[in-house]
Amino acid sequence: MASIPARENFVLLPPSTELVMYFVLAPFAAIFLYGLYLRLGRGLALWILRGFLRDPYGWLKGAALYAIAQRRVLRERWAGIMHLFISYGVLVLLIGTTLVAVDHDILKPLRARLLVGDFYLFYEVSLDAFGILLIAGLSLALYRRVYAKPERLGYRAEYVALLVLLLFIGVSGYLLEGIRIYVRSPAWGHYSFVGAVVAAALRSIEATLDSAVLLYQALWWTHAIAAFAGVAALPYTNLLHTIAAVLNSAARQGLAREPLRLETPFILREVAERGEIPQIGIRRAADLSPQQRLQLYSCTDCGRCDEVCPALIAGTPLSPRAIVQKLMRASWSGDTSRDFFDAKLFSLDEIYACTTCAACEEACPVLISPVAFIVELRRALALEGKIPAKAVQTLGNLARFRNPYGMAQSERRRFEEELKALGAKTLEEEPGAEIVYWIGCMGVYDPRARLVVRQMVRILKACGVRFAILCGSEVCNGDPARRLGEEGRYQELAEEVLELLGPTAGKTLLTHCPHCFDIFSRQYGDIGPRLKVVSHVQLLATMAQKGLVKPAISGAAAIHDSCILARMRGIVAEPRQALSGISLVEPRRSGRETFCCGAGGGNYWVEVKRAKRENVTRLEELIKDGPGHVLVECPYCLAMLEDAARVLGVDKKVKILDLSEALEPADSR
Ligand code: SF4
Ligand code: SF4
Repeated sequence: MASIPARENFVLLPPSTELVMYFVLAPFAAIFLYGLYLRLGRGLALWILRGFLRDPYGWLKGAALYAIAQRRVLRERWAGIMHLFISYGVLVLLIGTTLVAVDHDILKPLRARLLVGDFYLFYEVSLDAFGILLIAGLSLALYRRVYAKPERLGYRAEYVALLVLLLFIGVSGYLLEGIRIYVRSPAWGHYSFVGAVVAAALRSIEATLDSAVLLYQALWWTHAIAAFAGVAALPYTNLLHTIAAVLNSAARQGLAREPLRLETPFILREVAERGEIPQIGIRRAADLSPQQRLQLYSCTDCGRCDEVCPALIAGTPLSPRAIVQKLMRASWSGDTSRDFFDAKLFSLDEIYACTTCAACEEACPVLISPVAFIVELRRALALEGKIPAKAVQTLGNLARFRNPYGMAQSERRRFEEELKALGAKTLEEEPGAEIVYWIGCMGVYDPRARLVVRQMVRILKACGVRFAILCGSEVCNGDPARRLGEEGRYQELAEEVLELLGPTAGKTLLTHCPHCFDIFSRQYGDIGPRLKVVSHVQLLATMAQKGLVKPAISGAAAIHDSCILARMRGIVAEPRQALSGISLVEPRRSGRETFCCGAGGGNYWVEVKRAKRENVTRLEELIKDGPGHVLVECPYCLAMLEDAARVLGVDKKVKILDLSEALEPADSR
């Protein structure tokens, strides 16, 4: 036995073992490499390389934040710690095995060694410590999957089998180490502190050296084959996420704070010039782009998206987890040309129940956007007109009447006169206006939302803001069409609106509807100039800070954050600043974790049967602590929550108000 601590490889094994091992390893390695080829083929490897070279800093930052620090995984304390133990345990053992291979296969023939002396002792201590974390994490995971069985997790025999496999590799590694120490008695054996305990146990039962060696040889082969099988299984099982999720987090880190950034698949005016009919959306696995496939491969089936999905909670057939998993399995199948809808992989109710609230995307620990896949499925359906009847009607209204309700354009002009009576001016009358107040369809056609518009006009006038309106000539900006998957109709309307907005160049657009805010500020930029947009929440916050507005209500008020403003655009502090002076009650789910009112994604118009509507669930949460007011930031939330108040019979007790209605000009008496 050498007196300097050094790693001993292939001890206690017949001399032919090393050669035989490489023969045994070969088929496993071939299966692994073929799997990698299948997953990385069809342009994915090239896409990853290009993406990294384009933005190496961003990719490294994304990998550091979401894969190494596991920022989102750790949002759930116990599940997060469990995952951290497993991932770091596997990573360190993998590094350890790689170092052994380098030491034995590369350095040793060159008469050099890596795993010797103090470094080797540090190596042994580290591997034993991380092995304990691995076994603890795996035991917890198995307990969860086999006994606790949280509802949201995806269940497949494969998942339990993989956990058992990893656990076996971890435990058998310790046993091998212990037998080695028992038989060889190295002076540094205690550095492998878990192995030393195993050796002590063998000593206490006075195991014979021959039987220990025999056990070692049998265990060594089962350990090796289990490890080879784990590697070979990686591209074909849930283990794939260990690589894909790192790359996906790296590639998508820029989108992490602003979910539901929809892709613009074509520019209508350009394809129209060329006379093309663009094929968009996803209706077969072959339609998936490399970045979409990478997202799918990253899915761990953890169900965090399901847990927050309002449509699922409302009892619709939609499960964002199932959407992603079904797409992932379809992309793995050999037949990439199978039509999802002909094969009844997805139902219309499943696809159209989505409120596009992006809660799923915000919750996903590996930065997958289930909602973006749903929009792509809608796009494929819309292309062939295979959409729900109510969606057809809404899209028809948008085409004929330029609003989703099918109401006359003359209503806009009538309402414009009403606003003028309150002191508002059109852009022709007020060309020097700094702000152009976009009223939107809901603001004109919904009687309750009209009250919000009137209130905003009163505040703007009283606070001396130079603003103008376009009300009489406005048309729908296309947001409902885009969310229903009708990209062409959206862009037709967007072009019309961009033309209308031409004379407003350099001015700031003010919106009180988050849908208008998002489409103007984030989505029009793909097809036209970037617009300067402010939501009424932001403007009121500034006014409150300047002392221009003050609270108009007394008593406690619960605040309902809009999905678009809070989650997708990070506007969380502003409404609270605007309402300073009002005693605010935060519901269970608030800020970026807010819960959808149920109107988004076209669900205000499309009817998908629900066991309990989102607005009712949400209002129950909001009024749990008995506030007299519920304050909202969106005309759709206003309509939905007022409706819920009637359903719950609390409409006389609780007032649902837009944020602007909870404020008044500071000098009003
Ligand atoms: S966007 Fe909202 S409703 Fe749609 S799947 Fe995600 S969580 Fe569910
Ligand atoms: S999409 Fe994300 S949150 Fe949903 S199951 Fe997959 S990994 Fe989990």
